[in-house]
Amino acid sequence: MSQRIANWAESFTFSASNVHRPRSVAEIQSLVSGSTRVKAIGTRHSFSRIADTDGDLVCLEKMCGISVEGTKVTVEAGVTFGQLCWHLHGMGLALHNLASLPHISVVGGCATATHGSGDKNGNLATAVRGLDFVAADGSLVSLTDNIDGAVVNLGALGVVVRMTLAVGPSFEMRQDVYEDLPLSALEGRFDEATAAGYSVSLFTDWRQIASTIDAFQAGGWVYRGIFVWDKTQGVRPAMGGDEIVVHQQVLQFFPHRFAP
Ligand SMILES: Cc1cc2nc3c(=O)[nH]c(=O)nc-3n(C[C@H](O)[C@H](O)[C@H](O)COP(=O)(O)OP(=O)(O)OC[C@H]3O[C@@H](n4cnc5c(N)ncnc54)[C@H](O)[C@@H]3O)c2cc1C
Repeated sequence: MSQRIANWAESFTFSASNVHRPRSVAEIQSLVSGSTRVKAIGTRHSFSRIADTDGDLVCLEKMCGISVEGTKVTVEAGVTFGQLCWHLHGMGLALHNLASLPHISVVGGCATATHGSGDKNGNLATAVRGLDFVAADGSLVSLTDNIDGAVVNLGALGVVVRMTLAVGPSFEMRQDVYEDLPLSALEGRFDEATAAGYSVSLFTDWRQIASTIDAFQAGGWVYRGIFVWDKTQGVRPAMGGDEIVVHQQVLQFFPHRFAP
């Protein structure tokens, strides 16, 4: 179909006028073998033109299968981290590390070595144990051994249709939030700060999320689970801060995430 799409932040429009949304591997194979230039896109969160092409863009959002076997999970390329986590959690399983955002695709996140957090945690791509991709001639290639160099491929390998990742038992995390940390307190003690927990993130607090969690903790509530960090246009606070609105959204959408 003929249309031009933008990246998630709407900071640029892709050059391709044809965006395909195949539903099967066979469809992708026929598309790739019949085109001179093809590039796959995930959830379009990259802020560079890394996924751009003047040929055909392939978006795999309609391919969202997930299957678990032992300590491995195989996802189709349309699956997001948010979808995968809920699925795994229901089975008592978890990934070792996550990106900041639940709505980016697993394949796109791994292709760019999205880092997640935690001194002892490898980036998201380190969980990958195998992948299937459609090569330039339309053939389907499966890699299970010697995947180094293929996983963080920046979209240059082909169209990845499936990825297999290692999973472990699910675990609960307590989240502590420290507010108003001056940069000077971090200087010279950066390694100490990042080694202080399983996963440590430093944020400039433009969403007041830290204040929100702090307010709950001050009230004796414990936060357990994943904070859905919704950055879509409608929930962004106005310049100058709008803490009340943010607090209400948290209560409205995630009451079950907090336990007294
Ligand atoms: C260098 C870099 C580091 C980033 N680090 C982080 C981070 O640590 N934490 C965080 O939250 N965000 C991070 N981001 C932002 C964002 O999470 C990543 O860009 C992530 O890759 C976005 O995933 P996506 O599904 O939107 O991929 P897209 O932006 O759509 O695509 C990213 C790349 O993956 C390729 N790709 C996607 N799907 C396929 C497929 N099926 N087959 C083949 N190639 C495919 C694309 O061609 C492109 O090269 C980073 C961005 C960049 C550019």
